[in-house]
Amino acid sequence: MNYFAIFDKSLCCGCTACKSVCPVNCISMKEDKDGFIYPEVDKNICIDCGKCKSVCPFATSEKLKHKKAEYCYALQLNDKKELFKSASGGAFGAIVKAYCDKNFIIFGAEMCGDLKVRHTAAETIENSYKFKKSKYLKSDTYGIYPEVKKALAGGKKVLFSGVGCQVAGLKGYLGKEYDNLLTVDLVCHGTPSQKIFEYYLKYLEKNIGAK
Ligand code: SF4
Repeated sequence: MNYFAIFDKSLCCGCTACKSVCPVNCISMKEDKDGFIYPEVDKNICIDCGKCKSVCPFATSEKLKHKKAEYCYALQLNDKKELFKSASGGAFGAIVKAYCDKNFIIFGAEMCGDLKVRHTAAETIENSYKFKKSKYLKSDTYGIYPEVKKALAGGKKVLFSGVGCQVAGLKGYLGKEYDNLLTVDLVCHGTPSQKIFEYYLKYLEKNIGAK
């Protein structure tokens, strides 16, 4: 069962893989009243190719499952200065430092200057540190999966970090394994929408009387 068949919101995480793969660009992501996005198909343009359903992480999740992990580690950086540049244990920075060199493009969620959270790319390790710290918001991933695919096809090594459904969305979109792709899933406990954050900002601005 998929979202397109019964429009059940519990079957969609708004990853945008379907929109990115549609060959005739007939999917738009529509916001619901709480600011969460869901795909809407323009039936007049759709050619019924089925690609949107085949990349959906809810349809491909069984295929994407890794074999059971033999070990699980927990970590916290010893370097207190570095630790306090991160939100929790500093795992992201440590993984980047351990695995990435100048041949990597690193993708992650950035709090942009307009206070919107988007998935963006970083071409250097230093630049990737913009992905540190929790955002507690659902990032906008639209357009990022084709960018990752282009980098992989061009022989670049890629590190992609995101919440689990975004990583699954990427893998569904790519449709095959790449040796030059490393993914880092953030174990999340649900992501509020950008709209809710904007309500909160307005509330604060009203109470404080300033931007
Ligand atoms: Fe786009 Fe094909 Fe899905 Fe129609 S079936 S919305 S053309 S991807």
